[in-house]
Amino acid sequence: MNKAKRKTVIAGNWKMNMTPGEGVSFVNKLKEIVKNQNNCGIVVCVPDIDMQSVSEALKDSNIKLGAQNAHWELSGAFTGETSVNMLKAFNTEYVIIGHSERRQFFGEINLSVNKRLKTIIGSGLKAIVCVGELLDERELGITTEIVSLQTKIALKDVAPEQMKNVIIAYEPVWAIGTGKTATAEEANRVNGIIRGVIEDLYNKDIAEATTIQYGGSMNAANAKELLSKENVDGGLIGGASLKHEDFAAIIAAAQ
Ligand code: PEP
Repeated sequence: MNKAKRKTVIAGNWKMNMTPGEGVSFVNKLKEIVKNQNNCGIVVCVPDIDMQSVSEALKDSNIKLGAQNAHWELSGAFTGETSVNMLKAFNTEYVIIGHSERRQFFGEINLSVNKRLKTIIGSGLKAIVCVGELLDERELGITTEIVSLQTKIALKDVAPEQMKNVIIAYEPVWAIGTGKTATAEEANRVNGIIRGVIEDLYNKDIAEATTIQYGGSMNAANAKELLSKENVDGGLIGGASLKHEDFAAIIAAAQ
């Protein structure tokens, strides 16, 4: 496997944090600090209500805009939802789907992740597809089965040429927002399992070219070790993406 064949992407997930004004002052500080960091993709996935103002603030910067979800239909009677065309109106490039908080609190299932994925990449956006096991599943020794199943269902009917717009984020649920991180070896091992699933579904070239991030309490202190691993091609970062110094330190660790 060859890390040079794929792009490292560091993406922040702001979750339900930051008003539009707070988001703009945050990215104004961040873009100054990271303006010369060009060896990895940098993304901020913001609440929909922040899109317009943050998109303006990011113009002419090396930071890309992302969303935290998108509906699988292009329009219609779906109260409270956001379509990919609405996101594209603000130059959004990335959309997180299947985040464990969506699965836990909003009824997201593997098949709906697959429907979202096909609409997102079909519209030319890039998707960050989250997979990961619960603590109970880890303790039962079924991490491999869970992440393999989630990855396979998410990728159902996704064509080989569309895989260039798919990022997988391995996010063990027990590590999200808890301060507990998978060891770098374990993150590398599970990311390698996911890469193997992609190889089985497609081929070795596609597997080697797919960005597979780790997410789960990644921070300024542990990022370097995690990101040094062969199969860890970046991070999806929650808490530490809300502090510009910490997020910038993770981006620097990826260089
Ligand atoms: C996340 O929300 O995807 C995440 C990894 O959160 P945290 O970094 O806070 O664990």
